[in-house]
Amino acid sequence: MSSSQVAIIGAGMTGITAARSLNNAGYTVQLFEKSRGSGGRLASNRSAMGRVNLGTQAFHADQAEFLAELDHWQHAGWLKQTEQQWTGIPYMSALTRNLLGELNTLFSCEIRQLSHTQQGWLLLDQHGQQHGPFAQLIVAIPAPQASTLLSNCAPDLAACAASVVMQPTWMVALGFKEPLTASQPLSPMQQRIIAEVRPSAIAAEQPMQTWLLRASVAWSTEHLEDEPAQVIHRLSNCFAELFDTAPPEADSAFAHRWRYALGALEQPLNTLADLSRGLVVAGDWCGQGDLQSAWCSGRHAAQQLINS
Ligand SMILES: Cc1cc2nc3c(=O)[nH]c(=O)nc-3n(C[C@H](O)[C@H](O)[C@H](O)COP(=O)(O)OP(=O)(O)OC[C@H]3O[C@@H](n4cnc5c(N)ncnc54)[C@H](O)[C@@H]3O)c2cc1C
Repeated sequence: MSSSQVAIIGAGMTGITAARSLNNAGYTVQLFEKSRGSGGRLASNRSAMGRVNLGTQAFHADQAEFLAELDHWQHAGWLKQTEQQWTGIPYMSALTRNLLGELNTLFSCEIRQLSHTQQGWLLLDQHGQQHGPFAQLIVAIPAPQASTLLSNCAPDLAACAASVVMQPTWMVALGFKEPLTASQPLSPMQQRIIAEVRPSAIAAEQPMQTWLLRASVAWSTEHLEDEPAQVIHRLSNCFAELFDTAPPEADSAFAHRWRYALGALEQPLNTLADLSRGLVVAGDWCGQGDLQSAWCSGRHAAQQLINS
């Protein structure tokens, strides 16, 4: 690998946006992603229920440049808009897969250590394999993980990232072959456990009616270390209270824990940077902690490296 390449850690919306901008400007980029697929918190899971979005279900946008970009994605058939909300077609991670296109990405590669040498940035993965040197580096991962990764090589930026508290969220998906209709909405009492309930209908690639239950931040924090089976049991019991007659047991169920779901710096900064060493730290948490912020941060990160 030549040292003129840019390394990007994290293939969520932030990392992919930065990679696309740099690639369009003629840079060679190499993405590193610890999961088997792209998307990060836009991930979806293949299950007996069909594809289920595990994180963001739909997102909001009000920033002019982001809205213009969404227009392109909509024309490409990657997105649909319902009122003021956008969703990926046919699911969220398909959007990031489309955005990623042919960009160089090493999946199942978790970067555990960074060092800056005269030749550039060296990255060490979970197998002890070294990657680089890279002339420039973008770290596009949640704040607590960024803080750990940067602690040795950029302690000031690490400390700034460490100030962000990212809250957890448990998600539970319940699949029913026979569709159900809830008798009442969540009561304030139930909302202490389940913040949101989203049903989705049976469709061509969706063999079951799926109810997605998003646990409240307070409940998720308190039950962070519970076993998935316990979480499914507790949330299913709360969900059953929405029906006059107890619903049957779900035909399929799974739980997913987001240890770092949502959070942001107290003062939005777009990115943190040490441009003298070609380092930019980006992510939704550098803005308002939402998808739009992730896109803005990724684009800003790329622009900073291009201008430096
Ligand atoms: C349950 C939930 C609901 C949400 N609801 C909404 C909503 O309604 N509206 C909205 O706008 N936003 C919502 N969000 C937030 C939105 O999903 C995020 O703002 C956005 O996806 C963040 O993108 P990102 O690229 O900054 O981070 P991420 O998506 O977290 O991407 C970071 C990537 O880095 C990878 N990674 C981490 N560490 C390493 C490492 N050491 N080496 C290699 N790879 C690594 C991760 O695997 C991940 O793929 C929600 C999030 C969750 C979890």
